[in-house]
Amino acid sequence: DGAGSDEQIQEFKLGPDEELRFEVEGIKGQVTTVIMQEGMAEVFGTEMVRGREYQFGPGTKMAIFTYHGCAVVLKGKTEFAYVAKETPMIMYLNAHAALETMRRAAEADGKRGPIVAVVGPQDVGKSTLCRLLTNYAVRLGRRPIYVDLDVGQGSIAVPGTVGAMLIERPASIESGFIQQAPLAYFFGHTSPQANIPLYNLLVSKLAETVHERMESNRKAKASGAIINTCGWVKAEGYRCITHIAQAFEVDVIMVLDQERLYNELSRDMPPFVKVVFLPKSGGVVERSGSQRHEGRDTRIREYFYGKPPSQTFHPHSFQVKLSDAKIFKIGAPAVPQSCMPLGMKGDETRTKLVSVTATAPALVHRLLAVSFATDETQDEATKTNVAGFVCVTDVDLEKGRMTVLSPQPSPLPKTLLFLSEIQFMDNQ
Ligand code: ADP
Repeated sequence: DGAGSDEQIQEFKLGPDEELRFEVEGIKGQVTTVIMQEGMAEVFGTEMVRGREYQFGPGTKMAIFTYHGCAVVLKGKTEFAYVAKETPMIMYLNAHAALETMRRAAEADGKRGPIVAVVGPQDVGKSTLCRLLTNYAVRLGRRPIYVDLDVGQGSIAVPGTVGAMLIERPASIESGFIQQAPLAYFFGHTSPQANIPLYNLLVSKLAETVHERMESNRKAKASGAIINTCGWVKAEGYRCITHIAQAFEVDVIMVLDQERLYNELSRDMPPFVKVVFLPKSGGVVERSGSQRHEGRDTRIREYFYGKPPSQTFHPHSFQVKLSDAKIFKIGAPAVPQSCMPLGMKGDETRTKLVSVTATAPALVHRLLAVSFATDETQDEATKTNVAGFVCVTDVDLEKGRMTVLSPQPSPLPKTLLFLSEIQFMDNQ
């Protein structure tokens, strides 16, 4: 009903290897507080501090797992909350142990630690498994690189990007991994399907950069990398996965949930790549198209304002002269090969910069990536990483200016801006 002022309190006792799953009610402003009162527990691989209050915003889906048993209190309205006895956690823990063995061997030989890709269809817990494996590695003193190639969710920066960051401490239970100097590349769409040549180009570029970073940091090198991928696994999507495996030179592929994908990869990967199958957790909730859309919106809002309930970021709103803004799209529309100028391949036009004429419908509510690239005639421009994102909140063509929401104060750097297909309504 949403109107009740009575605070809902639920208490749970968990036995060893059990998990409390809950979802915070999806109403704006709703907050659920969680306190672990006895025992030991963790959230996706991060240990909970006994007696501390953790707060989660509307729609958050969480699992509190315990190896030894614990008592937990939930305050606030939830869509559901139940204790599950069956979880795949032991198998995930074994997968982590196998990676750790590889890291130890790599460390001893001065070699590169395991590069792992987690693949599978949508909503099978890929991001969650990546977070768990990364957390377990960090808790053992490792410094793995987390790579996110899922442009649909975009846990690094915003949706529509691929990126990587060095992980030095476990994820915060409430806000995930702290984003210190993440490396992000602009894609601009929520599925690789929208521009496969560009997606593959960025994956290759990111792989190159990640390999370089590993070579320059001994600890990171032995720790390896954990790669989250998109849920698009059929046909062209499958080829994106094999390209990822090649570009990153993965040692291990963990396939969640789908046996067909597991069989295909076992058949197609070279023998030195270990392909393992892992079941999905019964706790992973399937999302509808509109929930996915909402998830993206939430992610973008968090990018500008911080995570609810505290929302500690204070973005700036200011005007930019349209004549000062160098706005580009990446990729001309796909053209049949027969219509291409002589000597040009179809793929090339898909990764070229195309100047965007400022019109209100084209720009308003869109995200713009602020690139580090300054020269649109340079081949490298599309492959240059981005400094951050702004959102166009208003366009005044008569006065020749637009208003942007930006994490940084005015002015925008004099670099190229890339127009994203992704829209965001700033109604904060
Ligand atoms: P994918 O990356 O495959 O799309 P996610 O890892 O994002 O899937 O998981 C989907 C949703 O399910 C997320 O909101 C996540 O927090 C939630 N989730 C994952 N594992 C569990 C679990 N064991 N119990 C409850 N919710 C979970």
